[in-house]
Amino acid sequence: MRVLFAASEIFPLVKTGGLADVAYSLPKALIDGFDVQISLIMPAYKEVKEQVEITDSYSIGDLFGVGNINILKSKHPLFDIELYLVDCPYAFNRDGGIYLDKNNIDWLDNDLRFAIFSKAVAHFFISSGLIGKPFDIIHCNDWQTGAVLAYLKQYKIHGLPSIFTIHNLQYQGNFNFANMEKLGLSAELYHINGMEYYGNISYMKAGIAYCDKIVTVSQSYAEEISTPEFGMGLDGFISYHKGKLLGILNGIDSDIWQPKTDELIEYNFTADDFKQKERNKEYLSEKLSLAKDRPLLGIVSRFSEQKGLDVFIRTIDDIINHGFNIVILGSGDSYIEAKLKEKAKQYQNYISVSNEYDEAFSHQIFAAADFTLIPSRFEPCGLTQLYAMAYGTIPIVRNTGGLKDTVKDIYVSSNGNGITFEELNEKNIIEAIRRAKVIFDNKHSYTKLRSNTMLQDYSWHNSAKSWANLYKSMLRHK
Ligand code: ADP
Repeated sequence: MRVLFAASEIFPLVKTGGLADVAYSLPKALIDGFDVQISLIMPAYKEVKEQVEITDSYSIGDLFGVGNINILKSKHPLFDIELYLVDCPYAFNRDGGIYLDKNNIDWLDNDLRFAIFSKAVAHFFISSGLIGKPFDIIHCNDWQTGAVLAYLKQYKIHGLPSIFTIHNLQYQGNFNFANMEKLGLSAELYHINGMEYYGNISYMKAGIAYCDKIVTVSQSYAEEISTPEFGMGLDGFISYHKGKLLGILNGIDSDIWQPKTDELIEYNFTADDFKQKERNKEYLSEKLSLAKDRPLLGIVSRFSEQKGLDVFIRTIDDIINHGFNIVILGSGDSYIEAKLKEKAKQYQNYISVSNEYDEAFSHQIFAAADFTLIPSRFEPCGLTQLYAMAYGTIPIVRNTGGLKDTVKDIYVSSNGNGITFEELNEKNIIEAIRRAKVIFDNKHSYTKLRSNTMLQDYSWHNSAKSWANLYKSMLRHK
């Protein structure tokens, strides 16, 4: 079985969030454990091209009048998954972010950039038989690849199974309808059951409309997105397509997120010996000039409304008064950045805030922290709670989406691995922090909880099996 897996970011080539981690770790788990042949395809961003060795090139022509588009077969020194890059220098050879320009504003032509990527993927998928064994399944991820399915629909390609994974419904790729012709999208797709969305075109809606299966990254999120609270305006449309919707929980790459061998942390450790984890905490606290002997709350997050950090900020005084230190790594919303910096200035010995993207530092935080806090308004799956738990760090989370599916409250479940709360408000966060402090102060139960949490399986093992079964079932029904 050959699967073409299309994503706009793939770790370690380029990453802005959890999608990149999954776009590498899921295919790896499927190749290693389930004998599924997967090829990855992503845009040839400038920074990606600089990291790879190009071994072959196939021209698919000048599809948009912005120059020839090539598919580059590539090799990356850190992984051996077959990798293809859609090379269109006009669209991807730019300084700045992969979605945002240097001023942190969406590239004004993101509709065209991801139409170019998507159309190239569709062409490559259809014509793959010309250069080798053809692909059997196309697997698209999030709005940046939604138009792949629109082009396949337009080309009247039937009988080739397609999957569209929703990693986050908030980002929908909604663009001006007036550009549809320029994007090479047929007006036939512009209707309420297609990619039309309140007078715009929506790549997310195209993905949902034209795939055979919609998969979200947790079971709970699959249920939530057909409700007005979580549906981001698409709940009605998703409910209509409920028959092809399912949830498969994300896992983590246990080779990379492995405290026993992780080279990015100072002291390796296992669930048998938390003294080594404590040394990571001492090391980090000293490096960041934080006061000693206080429980450490670590947060690694995008700063966006989704993550609930605006509410967290209003609880910081109480959290410090409960005796905690806080280490925060993240970037995004400038209001949140500024407020956190203010608090770090106010509590210099207790709070450290780093506004940057630093993969190694994120490992060090999970290795050092006692707790992590994830008060998300919604969370499709969430990876940071999984990374935290694999490093013996107890998650305190809002009971929603993938957080709900992976963190069980110690008061509710005999196999509990964290602390959960329902509504997002200051009172609930402070109460959860109070409970965390009570656990922390009881060394015996704290150690037991840590080792119980750390020893649970957060790897891809179970979920990759569900993915392999899904692929197989789709081939049978071809
Ligand atoms: P989302 O995809 O919504 O941002 P996830 O929890 O699914 O949230 O995934 C976030 C990923 O990005 C995790 O791998 C997390 O460790 C990483 N991450 C987020 N912010 C930073 C940062 N500033 N530095 C390093 N890694 C980060």
